[in-house]
Amino acid sequence: MAEVRRWSGNDTTKYSIYNKELDQLEAFVRTHKKIYIFGEGKIGTAVAHYFRQSGFRFDGCVTSDDMEWMKSDYSQNPYGIVMGVGDGLFFEILPVLYRFMHDKDIFIPSSDVRENMGNAFSIDYARENFWINIFTESQCNLNCKSCSTFAPVCKSGRYEVDQLKKDLLRIKALNIPKINFINFTGGETFLHPQLLELFSCARKLFPEIPMNCYTNGLKILSVEDSYLSAIHEWGITLIITEYPLPGLHLEEAYQRLDRLGVSYNVIYSEGQKYFSKRPLDFTKSTPKYKYYMCPRYKMCDSLFLYKGKFYKCIYAFMSNAFNQAFGTSLITQREDYLDIYKIKPDDIYQYMISRIPYCGYCSPIEELVPWGISEKRIEEWS
Ligand code: SF4
Ligand code: SF4
Repeated sequence: MAEVRRWSGNDTTKYSIYNKELDQLEAFVRTHKKIYIFGEGKIGTAVAHYFRQSGFRFDGCVTSDDMEWMKSDYSQNPYGIVMGVGDGLFFEILPVLYRFMHDKDIFIPSSDVRENMGNAFSIDYARENFWINIFTESQCNLNCKSCSTFAPVCKSGRYEVDQLKKDLLRIKALNIPKINFINFTGGETFLHPQLLELFSCARKLFPEIPMNCYTNGLKILSVEDSYLSAIHEWGITLIITEYPLPGLHLEEAYQRLDRLGVSYNVIYSEGQKYFSKRPLDFTKSTPKYKYYMCPRYKMCDSLFLYKGKFYKCIYAFMSNAFNQAFGTSLITQREDYLDIYKIKPDDIYQYMISRIPYCGYCSPIEELVPWGISEKRIEEWS
């Protein structure tokens, strides 16, 4: 599996986050004039999708029904086969292939890769697991180094209540079959001056959907009881991420939430906290096929909603803020987002399972950054 190591140890070495298998697959494709994917089911379809997204050339999918012509074709023009079926079918397929093919012409992705691709590139899986992150507020009162939303260097920007109402009405009209939950995120959500109105607007339109609000907890002690009670009444669960800020003790805040009946969960900080940084490559030269192992890409069954658009990745979403802060020229393309006023539900799932052009800006490494306060330097993100 990929060498993803996060949140542990005292080492800030840069790790490759890519499974070497993908590099081997790229070499396999490059060195074979003709490639077939074996399998047309969930895994075969997913592998074919990955090939298309990565710009890998292939000549179609084959199944056991094709063995006769495959045999005669191979004897004249040897080709490569990439296995796109589950382990359970190997015992009946591989012995037949090995009867007429050389080992070097059969590429078998690991079980993990095949299984993960089968889910990550499945429309059915996306439809079943979908959720929405409403990006409320771009600024933050903590300003962590290498913050993935670029909060320390963002100019002010927030979701206005009227705009959110309009956008949520549009989402309701889209009749998306399943929205598992709605998260309110930022920046720091509690800095939004009309946060309660955002909650009320969302709750009235989606009375049954579980809703969470992410916060660093710093403001919980300074808001009125009535503010916290309203959070309880709108049925919002707070997700409080703890940071090792010297002198910060949130126990009193938790007691207050308990007293007022507010539902909350805590993401604890145990000892040294680390941030996962994807250094930006301003030349946008990361090969297409590497996008798939990005943890942000793989983890997310959700889209960010901000002012009429869905974004798969916050990096693409915040490119303008980054450009304004540092004078860079990160470009967001049309394929990096969805305009919610120009789509139908199936477009959402197709977008979710697809690579976005912005992935070319992310270096194929992940760096562990010990948590600290930002000095607003470009090196924190590059
Ligand atoms: S708490 Fe830190 S990581 Fe979270 S939004 Fe604020 S600056 Fe970014
Ligand atoms: S733009 Fe693509 S590669 Fe970069 S963090 Fe987002 S999903 Fe990952």
